[in-house]
Amino acid sequence: MNKVAIIGGGAAGLMAALTAARAGADVTIYEHNKSVGKKILASGNGRCNIINTTACRDDYFGADPGFSAYALQQMPFKTFEKFCQTIGLLLDIKDDGRCYPLSNEAKSVVLAFQTAVKEAGVKIVSEKRVSGIAKEGKQFIIESDQEKAAYDKVLIATGSEAAPQLGATGDGYDFAKTFGHEIEPPYPSLVQLHLDSTIHHKMAGVKTLAEVTLYLNGRPEEKVQGDILFTRYGISGLAILDVSQKASLALMEYQHVAVGINLLPRFNRQALGTLIEKLTVAVPNHPLETALTGILSIKVVPHLLQSARIRPDIPASQLTTKEIKKLSHLIQDWRFDIIDTHGFKHAEVSGGGVSTAQIDNKTMESKLVEGLYFAGEVIDIVGRRGGYNFNFAWASGMIAGKEMART
Ligand SMILES: Cc1cc2nc3c(=O)[nH]c(=O)nc-3n(C[C@H](O)[C@H](O)[C@H](O)COP(=O)(O)OP(=O)(O)OC[C@H]3O[C@@H](n4cnc5c(N)ncnc54)[C@H](O)[C@@H]3O)c2cc1C
Repeated sequence: MNKVAIIGGGAAGLMAALTAARAGADVTIYEHNKSVGKKILASGNGRCNIINTTACRDDYFGADPGFSAYALQQMPFKTFEKFCQTIGLLLDIKDDGRCYPLSNEAKSVVLAFQTAVKEAGVKIVSEKRVSGIAKEGKQFIIESDQEKAAYDKVLIATGSEAAPQLGATGDGYDFAKTFGHEIEPPYPSLVQLHLDSTIHHKMAGVKTLAEVTLYLNGRPEEKVQGDILFTRYGISGLAILDVSQKASLALMEYQHVAVGINLLPRFNRQALGTLIEKLTVAVPNHPLETALTGILSIKVVPHLLQSARIRPDIPASQLTTKEIKKLSHLIQDWRFDIIDTHGFKHAEVSGGGVSTAQIDNKTMESKLVEGLYFAGEVIDIVGRRGGYNFNFAWASGMIAGKEMART
């Protein structure tokens, strides 16, 4: 019977622990939080977007996103759903492929795992931060709070640095480095963005639907529609989180990063010009600022006019053809330079991590050190928003768990 240590009681660690214990291994989880699954509890606004039925390698980023393909094939949605049934967890599948626990509460996910790992005989050492992993002969020595214990196999499932308030540490990278593994530089992802402008803070609190185009070095890179929310520091909202992966990576590479906000994506440019013109004819004597609130949020209009350098108090009829053109351009491509992300503290996930080049994706075992395994977000694989990150954590955890139990 293999004696297995799992460092980190998050999604990947819990799945690996349960799989290994069910396959006959003697498993111990080390978790420095009071209890396991703290990030699961906070996920999906407390609802836990647990998986996505459509996940494929194209939903992932990293030096080699294809690394994720084998794990995703090994645990397609139906396999995960069946696994969930074995721990008493039923799923609610949405039309777009996102899944949530049927209870709609992340708590059920954690409770189901906690109960199942206990039943499978997994030991949980909580409130102990692992400070070192060493290999002596064929055994691994785990050090935590000046105590040492020996194991046959070790899984590093410590996650990333994203959301340190939930227990995230960069420890997994340090452990990997001591065994000669390379680390792709970590960067915050699924995160709010900081803008370089003098007006965004004046619009703090303004939430609207928009189409967001991410520009890298002036070229359009990605287009998404969804909520945006102006904030004191910059911009947030689901559409922004969606483009943040590429934006954050590009910032790290010193590229010029900008977003273009289209406040009225349903019109083409000419139709929008005609619409504004009609408005000025309909209410010629209304101040322009008031007239425009017929088509745009009242909180946005003054700042938009300031950006266009058009006086807000002129009668609508005085808007020239040139100004109508300028205004419709701005409404559909209001450009803001991005200068930073809101940081790891606010990020849902982190890109970068332990290089996939030195991990066998069929076993999750290190190619450098026999008996050492990796799973979850500590690896240089990061997914889009929509359940993809848990997806990879479960799938890679399951593979590692199975392999570690093999004698
Ligand atoms: C607010 C928020 C919402 C999210 N919502 C979703 C969502 O709805 N859907 C989705 O797919 N993804 C979501 N994510 C991302 C998802 O939570 C992570 O991708 C996933 O938890 C990664 O699992 P993991 O097991 O690799 O790492 P983690 O879940 O981070 O687990 C790692 C564990 O290791 C422990 N640890 C770290 N260092 C040590 C050490 N030295 N000793 C002992 N223990 C240690 C940590 O305390 C932690 O419990 C969200 C993330 C956040 C922050």
